[in-house]
Formats: sequence, C-alpha cells, structure tokens
Amino acid sequence: MITPSQKETTAPRPKGLALEETRALAKDLGEPAYRGDQLFGWLHKTGVQSYDEATNLPKRFRAKLEALGPPTTLALVEFSEAPDGSGKFLFRTESGELVESALIPGEGRATLCVSTQVGCPLDCAFCATGKMGFRANLDAGEILDQYLMASRRLDVPITNVVYMGMGEPLLNYDATVRSLRLLLDERAIGLGRKRVTVSTAGVPPAIDRLADEGVRVKLAISVHSPFEDVRSRIAPVNRKYSLADTLAAAERYARATDTRVTLEYAAIANINDRDEDARALAKIAGRFPSKVNVIPLNPVPELDEALVPSPPERVERFVELLRAKNVDAFVRKTVGREVEAACGQLTTTHNTRHL
Ligand code: SF4
Repeated sequence: MITPSQKETTAPRPKGLALEETRALAKDLGEPAYRGDQLFGWLHKTGVQSYDEATNLPKRFRAKLEALGPPTTLALVEFSEAPDGSGKFLFRTESGELVESALIPGEGRATLCVSTQVGCPLDCAFCATGKMGFRANLDAGEILDQYLMASRRLDVPITNVVYMGMGEPLLNYDATVRSLRLLLDERAIGLGRKRVTVSTAGVPPAIDRLADEGVRVKLAISVHSPFEDVRSRIAPVNRKYSLADTLAAAERYARATDTRVTLEYAAIANINDRDEDARALAKIAGRFPSKVNVIPLNPVPELDEALVPSPPERVERFVELLRAKNVDAFVRKTVGREVEAACGQLTTTHNTRHL
C-alpha cells in the first residue's frame, strides 16, 4: 500500500517514498518489485534529474514514471558563492515559489541548511521569512532535492544537513520525518544521525513525537531569551508554547534519544545579551545534556531597527559567563552575508530564517 506524499497528487511522487513504498509502486505499475529497488537508488542516491538517466530501467517503466511527473519538482535557479566559501542555492518549486538552501563551510565539513516550508507562519521578530507568512509546505522529495541537487552542483561532499532554512520543520512534520528517514537510510542518502539536525522554534508535541520516531537525529532549540516575556516578543510562538514547555520537551528528547540538545541563541544588543540573561541561560543549560551556540543576530534591514546584533565584546562576555557556569558554549560566526545566505536571511531579496 503506497502512502501518498505530502502534496495532493493523484498518484504518489516516487521521490520521497520509502523503499518498501517504491517497491509497491513498481508493482502497481506492472513491474517486479526489484525495479522499485533500482528506482529508489536512482532517485535517492544518484539524484537523477530525468528518468532517461536511469539507464537500467526498461523504457516502458520510465514512460510510466514520466506520466507521474518528473523525478524532481525543484529547479535550481542559481547558486551564489561568497568569498568565505559559503553559498546560497535558490530553487523554484513547481508552483513557482522560491525556496533557498544555505551552504556553510567548516573544518573538514560542509553543512547544508535546508528549507521545509515556503515562508513561515511563526513570524519571529528578526526573521524575514516570517514576514512572508506561510505560503506552502514542501514535500519530502523537495526537501531531499535541496540536498541532492546541491550535491550534484558542488565539488565537495555535503557532510551535514540542518533543517534550519525557511520554515518551521516541526510544523511540516510528516514531510520532515519522511525526508529524515531517507537522509539516514544507507540505501538512499545514508548520512549518520549525528550529521543531521532538526532546528525548531519550539513545538513541544512535535518534539515528543520526534523522540518516538526512532530517527535520533540532533535537535536544536531556538531559545533567544531565558525569560518568557522577552522570548514572546522575539519568537511569538512562545505565546502558544511556552519556553518552559519547550525546554521540558527538549529535556525529554535528550534523555529518550541519548543526544545533546543545542540551544541556539541569537544575541541582540540590549535585549537578550545582558549578564542576567547569561546567568539564567546557564541554569537552563545545566538541566539536561546540552550546548549553547551564540550567534550575533543577522541584521535584516527591513525589520525592526531596534534589533541590532550584539557587539563582539558583548558576545564574548556572554559566552565567558556561560562557560564560567560549566556550560559548553560557542560563538558561531554568521557566514555568507555577501550572498545573504546566513540563516535568518534566506530569500528575502527574492521574496528567510531560523538561527
Ligand atoms: S526564525 Fe524560523 S521559526 Fe521563526 S519565523 Fe523565521 S523561519 Fe519561522
């Protein structure tokens, strides 16, 4: 029995189906099950852009697949690269919406920041994607295609994937989990679970569900303030799901999956970068296995002028205060400003996100 993909199509798109579902699709199309295995590999390992590339599939099977639509529904519009090695992929969906993925280089690794939605309903104060509002969910195939198409374009392998592009991944739960399974599946993309991170503004029921999925990927929570009232101003989702509830879910996730949760913190001058913020954040971080990433806010010109990045010396002191309380704390650089690829800046020049 084939489970339809996220989008309302009359037949399921093969991209994004699990191996068992792809075998079932092959049988539904009059082919033996092993053709499903071959198709699965072409779609999720090779990342074919056309069924003509799937040379060991019979022409009659390829024709039936073509009738379901092309193997990929994203089109790469452009790839912009900055002098620091970061880059931005701009994709167009079948319905003409634009989505982006950011490439972030690191020591011996390359991280791709993928989008899960077009726009975002959560409207965080610093985020240009939020200002777009929610426009559409991406399906699992479109999430995976960002990785597959970027991999084809680059000379270096993408070693890590972070669900931190446009949108809130846990509000597009089924497509997010479906794509996670395929990213981790050795018969598909086959990344190690420690190389995949889901970053969320905080949706506790979905965090609890994710803990039960068996995927055990890394989890990052956008904290941004240890205080409920301040956090509600920065991330309005806090009015629905309080920081206390989100942290309780994060703690359950850390314990259920035996992973360390990352607490993301966008440092905003005079709003959340005071000594008392650092001390309260240290108490939170000490409650369960975690580390803190402090990232100076990415300035987005058209947003609130009061939202100014913390100066470097303030960020340094903030991190020192955390470390003094035995918190593993790091300053993350904002990379890629030249191409507006830093997370929280995706796609506003064309029409961005999570820190
Ligand atoms: S920061 Fe993330 S959750 Fe907040 S509005 Fe932007 S995309 Fe949505």
